[in-house]
Amino acid sequence: MFKKILVANRGEIALRIQRACRELGIKAVMVYSEADREAKYVKLAEEAVCIGPAPSGLSYLNMPAIISAAEVTDSEAIHPGYGFLSENAGFAERVEKSGFQFIGPTPESIRIMGDKVSAKQAMIKAGVPCVPGSDGELPDDPVQIRRIAKAIGYPVIIKAAGGGGGRGMRVVHTEAALVNAVAMTKAEAGAAFGNPAVYMEKFLQNPRHIEIQILADKHRNAVYLGERDCSMQRRHQKIIEEAPAPGIARKTIDRIGERCVTACKRIGYRGAGTFEFLYEDGEFYFIEMNTRVQVEHPVTEMITGVDIVKTQIMVAAGEKLPFTQRQIEIRGHAIECRVNAEDPYKFVPSPGRITMWHPPGGPGVRVDSHIYTNYFVPPNYDSMIGKIIVHGDTRDQALARMRTALGETVVEGINTNIALHRELMVDAKFMTGGTNIHYLEEWLSHRER
Ligand code: ADP
Repeated sequence: MFKKILVANRGEIALRIQRACRELGIKAVMVYSEADREAKYVKLAEEAVCIGPAPSGLSYLNMPAIISAAEVTDSEAIHPGYGFLSENAGFAERVEKSGFQFIGPTPESIRIMGDKVSAKQAMIKAGVPCVPGSDGELPDDPVQIRRIAKAIGYPVIIKAAGGGGGRGMRVVHTEAALVNAVAMTKAEAGAAFGNPAVYMEKFLQNPRHIEIQILADKHRNAVYLGERDCSMQRRHQKIIEEAPAPGIARKTIDRIGERCVTACKRIGYRGAGTFEFLYEDGEFYFIEMNTRVQVEHPVTEMITGVDIVKTQIMVAAGEKLPFTQRQIEIRGHAIECRVNAEDPYKFVPSPGRITMWHPPGGPGVRVDSHIYTNYFVPPNYDSMIGKIIVHGDTRDQALARMRTALGETVVEGINTNIALHRELMVDAKFMTGGTNIHYLEEWLSHRER
């Protein structure tokens, strides 16, 4: 096992990885930008290295600074967390070339699965069903683009091959808007992801977002840890996640889970990963794979008892998965609410000093957050400041626990979306379960204040 790991991330996931290292008896070296000097995990760290100024391009995306931090601290491995460099194949390659273990899949796997076009092609080969769409990247010729859209049928969605985080997507309802929409998405994708390639998919009208968590080791063992339902989204970004997915039969999940495991074995995948699907009328359609730990991993940890972050580290060190598929048991129900520093009505970011933080507690309540009273939320990064996760024997019990937890939570000094979560936890349709990916946006458009 490693003696020392460098954590190349910030915020709640940096703290989460630090906690996993502590449990494993591994020293965690934390890196931070000048804006994160006061972060809890930096204060708690045995070793911490400043890697640059606040803008992430100069710090959390600064590969030479991160690699030299690993060198000067004698770290053996680098955990990239999520976001930032976690799905950057070039970074994974540089980490390994510099003699460190990258805690994640091989650069080749990241490259194939990180590009949504090649990921879809790999999945089709592995027998995983995909959303109907263009056969790879869209050509430049407007005539051909129109022909492809016509064959798929409107509405269609134009998506950036290198996109992520809900960005780089545009829905098109009519032929008149098509060519311009493709050009705009291409330009945005080039600027945001350094890759102007786009592709087209049928825009599904009322799917749910269901994803399968997998874990694989370097010895060709792979398991799936059930599913998560992440249909509660605003602007293609998840805000509430739960596991299991309400109303989907276990055998339906098992069938798709087994396909994902087969696909992992085929591509020699290792580490944690997520296969994301749209689910409509009893069918799954693959949309993309995330080759890293995800924000919503705790709901799976709560229902399986598996520590995903610890397992990531163990398999990166070459250990075999400590469980087989048959040993994975699903117990109860878990829900996660992402707490964002933002206005709960207008969604404008609300960075600043937290004058009071009182986290919830009690049976089945977990809070993953790096904030504390008097912590300053820097304006430079994602607005998520933590996650409240609950577990119950049933979905109703989990909902009741979440309502209690949200009722206890106090954050003062900045705005948060906790008020939104409180409303959603008493919404009749959400309480029934099985809402689709458009539900939250529709709900917001009718919301009264
Ligand atoms: P990202 O990598 O940015 O998260 P995804 O491909 O995972 O992008 O899509 C994010 C979300 O966008 C999905 O969960 C879904 O809500 C919506 N979406 C993506 N593709 C489609 C589609 N073909 N039809 C309808 N909605 C889609």
